[in-house]
Amino acid sequence: MIIINESYRFNIMEKNWTYAGVKTMNSAVYDLNKCSWACHNSTTNHCLKNHIKIIKPGFPLYKQINDFYWGIINFNSKKTNGKKVSNPKFYATMNLIFLVVLWPLLMFYLLINYLKLRRRVKK
Ligand SMILES: [Zn+2]
Repeated sequence: MIIINESYRFNIMEKNWTYAGVKTMNSAVYDLNKCSWACHNSTTNHCLKNHIKIIKPGFPLYKQINDFYWGIINFNSKKTNGKKVSNPKFYATMNLIFLVVLWPLLMFYLLINYLKLRRRVKK
């Protein structure tokens, strides 16, 4: 996955963004047609307004999905000047726990159950 991701870097023509001293793959340009680091930096004011096409109010379980998403983002955050702010280290840790461990485990669990179900149907 990392090899595929990094090999794509050569095809990117946009100016990279630098975050915490690391040159990112994508830019931070506010583009109405696609996500960029601008979406990370301005999720509610830019990304949710311009890029979310399916999971909008009225979508089944919209509130639960929204609460789950913001629960992960804001877990262990604290209010600073009336705004919830996550500790960057904890935010990165939550990303790793969720995206690198929990999500692949869920996908693996679903794959195994699918294969068991398929075997049972074939018998
Ligand atoms: Zn976006």
